[in-house]
Amino acid sequence: MNNIPNTPVTVIGLGLMGQALARAFLKAGHPTTVWNRTSSKADQLVAEGAQLAPTVGDALKAGSLTVICVTDYPAMHDVLSAAADAELDATTLVNLTSGSSAQAREAARWAGQRGARYLDGAIMAIPPAIGTAEAVILHSGQQADFEAHESALGALGTVTYLGADHGLAALYDVAGLAMMWSVLNAWLQGTAMLRAAGVNATTYAPFAQQIAAGVATWLPGYAEQVDNGSFPAEVSALETDARAMEHLIEESEAVGVNAELPKLIKAMADRAIAAGHGAEQYPVLIEEFGKPRID
Ligand code: NAP
Repeated sequence: MNNIPNTPVTVIGLGLMGQALARAFLKAGHPTTVWNRTSSKADQLVAEGAQLAPTVGDALKAGSLTVICVTDYPAMHDVLSAAADAELDATTLVNLTSGSSAQAREAARWAGQRGARYLDGAIMAIPPAIGTAEAVILHSGQQADFEAHESALGALGTVTYLGADHGLAALYDVAGLAMMWSVLNAWLQGTAMLRAAGVNATTYAPFAQQIAAGVATWLPGYAEQVDNGSFPAEVSALETDARAMEHLIEESEAVGVNAELPKLIKAMADRAIAAGHGAEQYPVLIEEFGKPRID
């Protein structure tokens, strides 16, 4: 990671994630000021070399970069509304609190009105990974603000800049969650069916892992189809997939496991086929995903 130590930084919010962020800055050699509503959570970090600021305003003035990571956006506003505009102006705020893209854009507007430089961010990692390359941290907002602090932010993990729209980091975050849960749900569906036949989850897992990895390799080509709006059936037509979905539903019901998820996916495929897309390839379902459900 490309990191220039000695740049003073501030971390506001010392929950599980905030403590990991502050510790990573300290380990990388940054003079680190911290503030938390419950000040005792700073004790261990102070023992490791952090400075505890008495007020949020003092914390903001201590570093040209301030990372804030609290429960949610209302908590972030609670914390920052205690600061004067001049204190907010003293730093670049990088908000790594999870939230929606609308909350991120609104926070950027709020910060802008108060004269603050503001980047929004999303942490795609758990606290023990912070400070390692596995911790992917996404940022969106003004590119110049990101570039001014990219080096220091690099102490936290693999940092990526997504674009000027402050909502992008939150959008990527939830898109990543959709991916994660969909893969896990598909694995659990198969595991539930196989357990009904006496197959252990651990026996099935390597096979499932291989399928998931194989499907992941299809994504770039399928993404081109989505971007081009053209879905030639190169390997399989949607109506072929829909017949296999029927097998999944029948099999789930026959062995007494939950069939709600396969039925939901089959219903989307059926709507796409009814709209004339049966001979096209699976990613044509983007048209169903891209609009609200009409009952
Ligand atoms: P946490 O351990 O529950 O810590 C919450 C933090 O928010 C504490 O510092 C708490 O202060 C502060 N806070 C909450 N409400 C506040 C308020 N009204 N005013 C002032 N401070 C307030 O949560 P966490 O795990 O650190 O998560 C923090 C953020 O990181 C969340 O948005 C979470 O989604 C995101 N995140 C977490 C993980 C993870 O694995 N933990 C992974 C990715 C992203 P007190 O100590 O005074 O209560």
